[in-house]
Amino acid sequence: MVTGAMRRWRIRRLYNGEEFARARRLSERELGGYNHDFATDIIVRSLYNEGRWKALLDFVEQHPAAVHEVYAKKAQRRLSQALEEAEGIPEPNEKKPWNIADLLSNWSQEGRRLWLRHPWGWTHWDMPEEYSLKDTHPALLHLALEVLLFPWVPETKRWDVERRSPGTNHSLSYSGGVDSTAAMLLLPDDTILAYHERNFTSMLNHSLPHSTFEAIEERTGRRVLRVPSNHEKIRTYHGLQTGFPTANAACVHLILLADHLDICSISFGTVIENTWLKKGLKFREFQDTHYWNYWPKQFKKAGLDYALPINHISEAGALKICAQSELADVVNSCLRGNGDRWCGTCWKCFHKNGPLGRDIDPTSKEISIFLNKKPLRTAQHALWALKVQSLEHLTPHLAEHIADDLSWWDKAYEPGLDLIEEPLRSVVKEKTDTYLEWMTKPYALVEVDLDV
Ligand SMILES: [Zn+2]
Repeated sequence: MVTGAMRRWRIRRLYNGEEFARARRLSERELGGYNHDFATDIIVRSLYNEGRWKALLDFVEQHPAAVHEVYAKKAQRRLSQALEEAEGIPEPNEKKPWNIADLLSNWSQEGRRLWLRHPWGWTHWDMPEEYSLKDTHPALLHLALEVLLFPWVPETKRWDVERRSPGTNHSLSYSGGVDSTAAMLLLPDDTILAYHERNFTSMLNHSLPHSTFEAIEERTGRRVLRVPSNHEKIRTYHGLQTGFPTANAACVHLILLADHLDICSISFGTVIENTWLKKGLKFREFQDTHYWNYWPKQFKKAGLDYALPINHISEAGALKICAQSELADVVNSCLRGNGDRWCGTCWKCFHKNGPLGRDIDPTSKEISIFLNKKPLRTAQHALWALKVQSLEHLTPHLAEHIADDLSWWDKAYEPGLDLIEEPLRSVVKEKTDTYLEWMTKPYALVEVDLDV
């Protein structure tokens, strides 16, 4: 008689001999029986080794268990990569070569799709109906080229065309996350909200922002304009991961739409960690940085005010604003969540969802890795997040910093208002007053110089 133990031994031998398909088929017969757990484990590992990502995900869905999660996650990533590769990168019907002598000739439009020829291929945006490239001011097109390409094509920084005169509407580059929602809440209620939407297969999930947008529309009557594009691919030609080619590329959809939407300012949800603090670690006089003395001037040439309506607020302040708003239950910065549920295991969940009182697993692999990195990412905020969640025990190496009084961290830094031009400054100041306290002098912020 062949016992369960003998059958297990036979399966294990096949598996160790890398005969994955055979090991898997024998294991399938053991499902529901004495060797059930052993069999599911062999099936998951075999499917992984066979590269059958979709079958693995289906199997784990039918047989959910914590031990399979790590394989399911890896399979999901591999599947997305494979889909992305199979999908290819779209190209226009009319193909022209990249022209560095006449930069603006690299733009073209076919139907609602706006194309940009760049040195390595094409990228596109799917614009609202009635958008017209012809009616878009050359200064806007130059500025868009610069924010997309300047690290690799320095020629895009040199442009001198007639200034565009400002439009009448304020706009915000909106992501649906905590910081940009706080910015939305401090800006005038008629500010245009526009979301850059990745339109290719990737690990990022749009479903959380989408449920936030639906709630915004239901509760406030405001619409979020979504602009699909694949411009985050540009940096992948330079060995970098998919993402914004430069920080200001986050608003390129608004630059391109500035005439169509009659825009006079573009706002970003940039917090203290990226303005008054350098890498979230050390105080700097932000108004003296090259960044601040360069970009607002470039935007001005295109008739746009470069606005940082939450430069005077930390991530903690942004969380506090959102928590007091009618959107408290729907705002979420997690990019790995599903539907209206966050993942609970990523760094964003640790420092945004955790302090909001949402369930997270602070011992997850990603969170542990980040907490033990040196320098600590968004350090000042991370220290505060550890303290308010009473998680000091996870980071004995940071104990001396967490012992400090950090209660000033969710208050607003008044000198930051000077960076915001009127008429936005007064609106932002008044709205800040309704949500937050102001930091008091001498400012603890100015003393921040962390070596963690
Ligand atoms: Zn998450």
